[in-house]
Amino acid sequence: MAVEKTKKDCKYIDTGICDYAGSEGCASCSLLFANEREQNEIAEGWKVTQSYLPDDIDAVHLSAECQFCRGDKGEADAYALVEMAHHEPEFLKRKFFGLGSAERAKIGSLITIPMPICSRCRKLLNKANNAKWIATGISVVIMMIALSFVPAFRDPDFSQWYIPLLAIAAAGLVGYAIGSVLEKRFKAQVEKEILADIEELPLIKNMMARGWFPFHKQNASNNNIIISKKKPRPNVLFKRAAD
Ligand SMILES: [Zn+2]
Repeated sequence: MAVEKTKKDCKYIDTGICDYAGSEGCASCSLLFANEREQNEIAEGWKVTQSYLPDDIDAVHLSAECQFCRGDKGEADAYALVEMAHHEPEFLKRKFFGLGSAERAKIGSLITIPMPICSRCRKLLNKANNAKWIATGISVVIMMIALSFVPAFRDPDFSQWYIPLLAIAAAGLVGYAIGSVLEKRFKAQVEKEILADIEELPLIKNMMARGWFPFHKQNASNNNIIISKKKPRPNVLFKRAAD
């Protein structure tokens, strides 16, 4: 499954950092352009990161079973990309995993875990997260259709052009309000069938007990989990060669 590692003389070949940073081959490894001291820092930092990872992390993302089903586990056909952060390792803050931006400065480790998810859970999650936008869109469309039946608004010389615009904006607001209520109700329903909150997933719970926290909670602009058909790094292993 793993790609062939071409840099046979690399000091870190087949170590933990090789499974992670070098998972897609030596050409895309973060050690490639680092000097010896930096490579050492990265490898040592990764050992600290690994020491906080649960032992079953690879078994979970390699599993063919959906991690979100509450009852019988469906067959996974995509991945929910869950970003988890940790304050350790202290000395790597602002460096390798802490890419420099203000909110990442507090973070020593930042990893993206691909969580297997089935098509049913995916649809339910999407609906639960998008109900208010769907309701907003429907209200706007209905209002536009309704306005098109008012003869005055179709007259190009009609001077109060802003009235239909205001009506459309108002419809959008009403739709958003209704959608928000529906979304809450819908989320409560979905919550009965699937583990809609990532903090309920056993692996994530276990990680949080070890000091990890969901990165999106730090970063309000990124509320919804990104779902991807493929793993961003198909061969990644987080803990196999922990050493
Ligand atoms: Zn599922």
